[in-house]
Amino acid sequence: MLSDQFGRSHNYLRISLTDRCNFRCTYCMPDDRPGAYQWLKGLMTADEIVSIAKVFTDLGVTKIRLTGGEPLVRKDAAEIILRLADLPAKLTLTTNGVLVDEFIPVFKKAGIRSLNLSLDSLERSAFHKIVQRDLFDKVMQNIDLLIADNFHLKLNMVVMKGVNDHEIPAFIELTKDIDIHVRFIEYMPFAGNHWELNKVVSEADVLSQAAAYAPFEKLSDDIHSTARAWRAADHKGTFAVISTMTHPFCGSCNRLRLTADGKMKNCLFSATETDLLSILRSGGNLETAVRENVFGKKAARGGQMEGTLEDIVPEEMKNRSMISIGG
Ligand code: SAM
Ligand code: SF4
Repeated sequence: MLSDQFGRSHNYLRISLTDRCNFRCTYCMPDDRPGAYQWLKGLMTADEIVSIAKVFTDLGVTKIRLTGGEPLVRKDAAEIILRLADLPAKLTLTTNGVLVDEFIPVFKKAGIRSLNLSLDSLERSAFHKIVQRDLFDKVMQNIDLLIADNFHLKLNMVVMKGVNDHEIPAFIELTKDIDIHVRFIEYMPFAGNHWELNKVVSEADVLSQAAAYAPFEKLSDDIHSTARAWRAADHKGTFAVISTMTHPFCGSCNRLRLTADGKMKNCLFSATETDLLSILRSGGNLETAVRENVFGKKAARGGQMEGTLEDIVPEEMKNRSMISIGG
């Protein structure tokens, strides 16, 4: 059992396979100009990922999510997925969807039947502006493929004012005839992502647009869920809001993170990291390092953003960019 100083126990590990990505989402990638972002070096090998993940499952982790960057751009992604599937933990992943058609047989072999897939717009031009790649049709075709193959999908949409917030009803409408789960994510600040408070669309804003679309009912949420869920009347699917900015879920957090270069973070916003990869490579005690890291977890949002939202100065936050943490 991995407990922190506040008695929260942790059984969920998110592993970033790489910071490389075939998209350049404006809210995630710091800066696309050559040299502006330093790509991570010395990434964990497949063997190292499996060894470190095994330490976590030995310590009580029962769920592993692979993320990135884009986890599926890694050349040995299939090997890593299949090897991690042998650990005693439920395995899943978060992807931008571009490569999933090539991986469906691997997912099935690994027992993965549910995926989180990012989709920030249903309009080709807005999608292109956000992800900065002309891959809208590919992603939409792959979503159809997954649905036809009975994968359960959670579609993640980062909502930004004046960019895609007018599409909230259209996203809820997606849930009318298909049992998918749409999750609206409040825009969060990370190193270099040009975050501005006036671009944040709050849970309250989402719900007021949802109410104008259709009546909806509250659903019960899992105790560790980072999202609050609802169902619009007569809709097969559901929708939720991940309100990290306006209603953080830190009190029941059970998540830990491992970056692609082998650093452990006990929170998306933690300012400190434990270099598990160096400990592994030097033959040190990983279990003790993991336990100490978990114990030191701060009460909320990594001990950052403690004032009001208006007080947040993104440049003063001590953190990596999202792409090098793993969302
Ligand atoms: N490439 C994969 C993808 O896009 O799904 C996995 C990695 S991505 C960093 C994981 C999740 O983080 C995505 O759903 C993405 O939309 C979300 N994300 C990235 N930057 C964010 C930000 N600044 N605020 C809120 N969510 C963000
Ligand atoms: Fe890549 Fe995902 Fe970040 Fe977009 S959100 S740039 S797809 S890692």
